Amino acid sequence: MASSIRIALQKSGRLSEDSYQLFKACGIRFDYGTGKLKSVSSNFPAEFLFLRDDDIPGYVEDGVADLGIVGENVSVETGRQVTTVHKLGFSKCRLSIAIPRGDVYNGISDLQGKNIATSYPNLLGKYLTGEGVQAHIHEISGSVEIAPSIGLAEAVCDIVSSGSTLMSNGLKEVETIFRSEAVMIAHASLSSDKQALLDQLLFRINAVQAAKNNKYIVLNAPNTAIPAIAKLLPGMKAPTVTPLATEGWSSVHSVINENAFWENIEAIRAAGAEGILVVPIEKMIN
Ligand code: ATP
Ligand code: MG
Repeated sequence: MASSIRIALQKSGRLSEDSYQLFKACGIRFDYGTGKLKSVSSNFPAEFLFLRDDDIPGYVEDGVADLGIVGENVSVETGRQVTTVHKLGFSKCRLSIAIPRGDVYNGISDLQGKNIATSYPNLLGKYLTGEGVQAHIHEISGSVEIAPSIGLAEAVCDIVSSGSTLMSNGLKEVETIFRSEAVMIAHASLSSDKQALLDQLLFRINAVQAAKNNKYIVLNAPNTAIPAIAKLLPGMKAPTVTPLATEGWSSVHSVINENAFWENIEAIRAAGAEGILVVPIEKMIN
């Protein structure tokens, strides 16, 4: 029997656009952003459900959805029994404790007996227990950062990325308790045909992620410089070298990790490379 896989995505929020773009880059088409709660892909056996992110781990645990994309922070906080199958590298953030900017802070023991407002009572509770600190955790579902200014709590524990929200609320970050990024989660026991679809999907995601981290580089160099340049291009295999019409010169092609490119570019030029082109790669299959 031909089967299909059900994938839960955040309906509208910080995960939505990147989740959609990931499937798009994987060549999987579906209607998105139309306000509908469900959409069937036109070219992959998948059905997409659009939900609030907090509900996704529960739906995946229950098997209403086979897969889901959520922040690790939400997945761990809910404590649902799901399998994390892949880290996706977007929506990176951290869960941190913050206090009013003017307050003195000498360490975690300063939080003993204090009131801390958060939407993450489980993650915070576990962290404090691990540190041997007893504090009063006030669970609130939103606008956590205003809690100190209205006298609800002496500290907050909330999601931070740049820190500008904390800053504009007169708070300073004092402890990072969890680092998060978007993850793909799966139902704990997928049928073998659904597992096969997940494997196909992960194959595509890996190809997209590898491509994103690498660049195709083309440069010209005198033949005498090529051994030195080749050492600076840790490509998939040895670089491709083809002669140019100009005597004694060649064109060098290779794939290079983007970080390695920035680290080595000065040395590559110093070795004699000219006319360097860096081209994005769409898919990369190893
Ligand atoms: P929903 O209405 O679906 O419940 P929400 O308001 O709970 O949405 P969002 O603010 O859209 O959630 O955040 C979703 C996830 O994105 C968070 O759980 C976290 O993993 C990540 N995230 C939150 N804030 C940031 C940020 N500033 N930068 C990057 N990622 C973030
Ligand atoms: Mg939410």
